[in-house]
Amino acid sequence: MASQVAPAQLEPQRVFVALGCNLGDRVKSLQKAVLAIENLVDTQALRVSSFYETDPMGPSDQPDYINAVCEFYTACEAHNLLDKLQQIEAEFGRVRTNQQWSARTLDLDIALYGQHQIKTPRLTVPHAGIADRSFVLWPLAELDANLVIPGKGIVSELAPKCPQYGIRRLQSTV
Ligand code: ATP
Ligand code: CA
Ligand code: CA
Repeated sequence: MASQVAPAQLEPQRVFVALGCNLGDRVKSLQKAVLAIENLVDTQALRVSSFYETDPMGPSDQPDYINAVCEFYTACEAHNLLDKLQQIEAEFGRVRTNQQWSARTLDLDIALYGQHQIKTPRLTVPHAGIADRSFVLWPLAELDANLVIPGKGIVSELAPKCPQYGIRRLQSTV
C-alpha cells in the first residue's frame, strides 16, 4: 500500500526574488508579476523594492530592463518555488532561446532562500550573480541593508562595491 505520510511541513523561509523584464509594457509586467507571486499559495508579507531601469547585461542590442526585488515568506520548498516562478514566466510569454541574457518578457530568479546555500543541477542559491549585480544589490539594500548573503557578505558592504552606473531608480512601482 502506498504511504499516506504527508511530507514534513517546512518552516516558512524569508525569500528574495529578483525580477526583470525588457519586452512589452515593462513596468506593468513587473507590477503584474509581483501580484502573481503574491497570489501563490503560501506567500506571506510581500514587500517590493523600487523599480529600476537598467542597461542590459550581455547583448547590448536589446531594450533596457526594468528590475526590482521582492521579499516574502513561504513554506514552499526551494525547487517547488522555482517551478512556480518558471510557470509564471511562461504565463507571461517567456520564450527561452539559446542565447544567454537575451531579451525577455519576464525573468524571476531566486536571489536568496532564507540563509540556505543550495547547489543542485537546477538551482544555485544564493543566485550565482548576486554579488556582482548592482540591479539586484541596490534593491536588496532598500529592503534590508543588514541582510547577510551566505558565503558573500552583508548587502550594505557589497552594494557600494557595485556602482550604480547603468541603473536608474524609477518613481513608479507597485
Ligand atoms: P542568470 O541566471 O545569469 O540571471 P538567466 O536568468 O537569463 O541568467 P535563465 O535562462 O532564466 O537564466 O535560467 C536558466 C536556469 O538557471 C533555469 O532553468 C534554472 O534551472 C537555473 N537556476 C539556477 N539557479 C537559479 C536561481 N537561483 N533562480 C532561478 N533560476 C536558477
Ligand atoms: Ca536572471
Ligand atoms: Ca532566470
